[in-house]
Formats: sequence, structure tokens, C-alpha cells
Amino acid sequence: MMNSTGAVDRRNEFSGKRVLITGAGKGIGRAAALLLAARGASVVALSRSADDLRSLEREIGCETHAVDLADAAAARRAALAAQPIDLLVNNAGIARLQPFLDVDVEAFDETMAVNVRAAMIVAQACARGMIERGTGGAIVNVSSISAHIGFALHAAYCASKAALDALTRVMAVELGTYGIRTNAVNPTVTLTPMAEKAWSDPDKAAQMLSRIPLNRFVQPDEVAQTIAYLLGDESRMINGASLAVDGGFLAR
Ligand code: NAP
Repeated sequence: MMNSTGAVDRRNEFSGKRVLITGAGKGIGRAAALLLAARGASVVALSRSADDLRSLEREIGCETHAVDLADAAAARRAALAAQPIDLLVNNAGIARLQPFLDVDVEAFDETMAVNVRAAMIVAQACARGMIERGTGGAIVNVSSISAHIGFALHAAYCASKAALDALTRVMAVELGTYGIRTNAVNPTVTLTPMAEKAWSDPDKAAQMLSRIPLNRFVQPDEVAQTIAYLLGDESRMINGASLAVDGGFLAR
């Protein structure tokens, strides 16, 4: 909505909408929770660490569900308990770095369970509710440029994000007929506390930055704003896209 100065007033953009965000405790998920709450959404935060959820609840007054999404049955129970949901952000993700020759089954399976399987399970619960209510909806899966690029030590992570992009397209095709849009955001290095540690070595950071035409890493709020765009009405004909938030990394 435009105010008298011509600026867009987004304070009520998501009023009356319940938005479920997985991995809302930290990083990109937390930035999305703060932004969407500021734009009027009722945030339902689903994450692992109870302390993070308590502090988020104090900050924005959200509903919280503590769960380990690697556990399929627990993920399904938590997703069902969170209903009804109008908008979903599948953001929780993990990266366990191992050289390809040493990737073990346990790390591979856990990565796929959290980054892909949980996204599917949570989306199934949300989409069933949206279909029953006939309301339509929007889903954003937080993927990565790793869906497109082979980064050393990231075999399980890259495979999981490529799978998440593929899942996004299938969801867009099947759920689109019910008015439910599904898209992915694919950030490059985003300066969450975890990434700040991983990229604090200036030589390592310089190498990565040299591949990003805009010559800087992404801020969590910039990913959150892209998520909000894909959840909102301004993207009403965008369905099945993987939208890079990468300063041009993939354009090279
Ligand atoms: P982060 O700071 O580590 O935060 C991840 C959040 O997800 C935490 O709240 C974490 O909870 C939660 N989570 C992880 N595993 C979970 C599980 N098994 N069950 C429930 N919650 C779980 O990560 P981030 O950097 O914000 O990343 C968020 C998403 O963006 C991920 O999907 C990641 O792959 C993607 N991404 C990140 C970057 C980057 O550079 N940061 C770049 C591209 C894509 P706990 O802390 O309690 O475990």
C-alpha cells in the first residue's frame, strides 16, 4: 500500500497471515521472523534450541515449537501442531563439511533429512491445510547457490540443495493448481554468526568475494526481504523459481 508520500507502507502487508518459519532461532530464519512480524504476520517459529525460541518469543511475541527436524515423526507432529498456516518458510538447514572420499552415510543422511526431507514433511502438513481451507498460500524453500555449484567439502550439502530446488519445482507444479505458490531463494555466503566464523579468514573470504561481482557477502536481512517478496502478493505469478541472492555470483 502506498502512503501520501508515495512510499510503500508494508506494516500491514502480512496482517492476518500465520507464517511458519523453520530454523527461526538464528541467522536467516530469525531475520525472516523479525521482518515478517514487523510487516504484520503472526509468526510461528519452529526450531531446535529452546533458548533461541524463548528469546525470539520475548522479542516478537511469536508461537514456538521446539523440535529436531532430523526426526521425521517429530517433524510431522510439530508441523501439524503449528496449523493452520498461510505461509511457510522452510529455512532450517545444516552443513557438515567433509572431503568427498570421506563423506559418511550418517552425515549424508542427516543433511538430507534436515535440508530436504523435513522441508517436504512440513510443507505436506501446511499444504494439506491450505487445500482443505481453499485459501491458497505461498511457500519459500531456503536453498543456496550450492544447488548449482560444486563447492569442495560440500558434497552432502550441495546434493541436498540441488534436491531442494528439484522438490521446489515439483511442489510448484502439483500445488500450483490449488493456488499455492512454491519458490526457492538461493543465497551466496550470508553473514549469519555461523558464516562469519567460517569466512573470517581474509584469504578464504577474498577468494570467494572475487567471484561475486558486487564484491560483498549477503546480509541476513537481504535474504529475508527476498523471502518476503516471494511470500507476498507482488510475486503472485512467480511459481517454481529458484531466485539467486548472490550479487551476481551465478552470472559469471
Ligand atoms: P544458522 O545460523 O546455523 O541457523 C540455522 C537455524 O536452523 C538454527 O536456528 C538451527 O537451530 C535450525 N536448525 C538446524 N538444524 C535443525 C534441526 N535439525 N531441527 C530444527 N532446527 C534446526 O544457519 P543460516 O546460515 O541462517 O542458514 C539458514 C538457511 O540458509 C539454511 O538452509 C542454509 O543452508 C541456507 N543458506 C545459508 C547461507 C549462509 O551463508 N549462511 C548461504 C546459503 C544458504 P539450532 O541452532 O538450535 O540447531
